[in-house]
Amino acid sequence: MALIRNSKLRPRILIVGGGYLGFATAQRLQKSVAHGEATITVVDPHPYMTYLPFLPEVAGGSIEPRHALVPLRRHLRKCEIVSGKVTKITHAEKSVVVEPGIGEPFELDYDHIIIAAGSVPRTLPIPGLAEEGIGFKQIEEAVALRDRVLTRLDEAALIEDDAERRKALTFVFVGGGFAGIESLAELQDMASDAVRHYDTLTDADIRFVLVEALGRVMPEVGEAQARWVVESLRERGVDVYLETFLKSCENKHIVLSTGEEFDADTVVWNAGVKANPVLVDSDLPIDERGRLQVRADLQVEDDNGNVVEGAWGAGDVAAVPDLTGGGVGGYCVPNAQHAIRQAPVLVQNVLSALRGGDDFKQYSHKTIGSVAGLGVGKGVAQIGDFEARGLLAWIMHRGYHGYAMPTLERKVRLFGNWFVGALFGRDASQVVDLGDPRGAFVEAAHSKPAPKKDTKKEPAKS
Ligand SMILES: Cc1cc2nc3c(=O)[nH]c(=O)nc-3n(C[C@H](O)[C@H](O)[C@H](O)COP(=O)(O)OP(=O)(O)OC[C@H]3O[C@@H](n4cnc5c(N)ncnc54)[C@H](O)[C@@H]3O)c2cc1C
Repeated sequence: MALIRNSKLRPRILIVGGGYLGFATAQRLQKSVAHGEATITVVDPHPYMTYLPFLPEVAGGSIEPRHALVPLRRHLRKCEIVSGKVTKITHAEKSVVVEPGIGEPFELDYDHIIIAAGSVPRTLPIPGLAEEGIGFKQIEEAVALRDRVLTRLDEAALIEDDAERRKALTFVFVGGGFAGIESLAELQDMASDAVRHYDTLTDADIRFVLVEALGRVMPEVGEAQARWVVESLRERGVDVYLETFLKSCENKHIVLSTGEEFDADTVVWNAGVKANPVLVDSDLPIDERGRLQVRADLQVEDDNGNVVEGAWGAGDVAAVPDLTGGGVGGYCVPNAQHAIRQAPVLVQNVLSALRGGDDFKQYSHKTIGSVAGLGVGKGVAQIGDFEARGLLAWIMHRGYHGYAMPTLERKVRLFGNWFVGALFGRDASQVVDLGDPRGAFVEAAHSKPAPKKDTKKEPAKS
């Protein structure tokens, strides 16, 4: 295994994950680190940061997939970008193993490590889920869902068998948190728009189903707002099942805890997240939920309450104490609002440690509120006691996220999408063969040659 030492003979700050927290941290660090003071290395399997709150709008056809991403190399020019996945962390030796896309794994050493690897879907051993389900945390998933919904409309328009048609046009979403509601609402809105272009289909042919285990949706907003969201989804024709579990989806046959059964071609899983399992193969302390144990100054803390020197973490992967007294179980909830605000605290504290100081800032942030888009012109928002619904909430959603999208270049592209959408409507066009881009070429290469024509001219009769 190759070892990349501190080739530039200066301390390395290694950031594991270039997502929300990792990107914001690296962006600030590259501005604050003095010339030659440290190498900032970002390791991520993706060469971009994904602006996750825009995935629903990507799925709904309002944002081009690439415009919900921020390329790391272009915007972190003073950082070293390593495209690979950290598979092992040995903090005792201050070294990680990185698995690149192609080639042998290699070791990378560091002086300070910042764990910003986020979360992964929390799944359950439900029969059929691993085989039939799809998550909603990656850009590819949002794109695939947009393409799938539109492709199913095309296919269903030609299906004569009623049961087959119903199955193709039934889309089940499990989990009524923010991501679940937004993704369902955006896709339903797009499907409802797109179906107008089919002579043989109507809105009534399409069935969107929400399955939520709790008695309410969106814990991030108040009870009244959550009730309104359910009512407005039902008015749009969505079947909302509360206090209901998915029991099975084997062979695309849905069984709910209510006893109801039906067929559905698409099952989207949005029922919560858990800390990235990269920590399992590390000697860093994790809690019973697999989260990195950190203090309010974002330094890692061992089981005896001692600081683990040189190790830091925040965002979805870490159990960050919520000093405001809010949060679930005393910890910050995993959301972008916290991740983005933890970045400057990390930067200040890591730089202080690097420079031999011990003046560490504590992270504390009281949740401001939440904004969510539920389709074009539709939304829900809650900022403190202020509640908004419909168009105003949607404008607040776009306004906030447009402002929060990192870098001017990405903002301009994003607003360009929205401007074009305002002129011509959303772009509900799908790309059908992305999963098999060589298909057409292979078919052409294997096609039979055309039969040879007899080109000999018959002799002219005299
Ligand atoms: C659909 C959706 C909508 C959302 N909407 C909102 C919203 O409106 N408001 C809000 O506050 N929050 C929202 N969230 C939550 C928010 O996006 C997350 O809380 C936030 O992204 C967490 O930031 P993070 O940096 O901890 O993790 P992430 O942003 O997920 O970044 C983690 C990074 O680590 C990388 N990584 C993973 N494994 C490894 C590894 N082994 N080695 C190296 N790198 C690795 C990943 O590729 C990724 O780039 C939403 C989430 C989703 C899925």
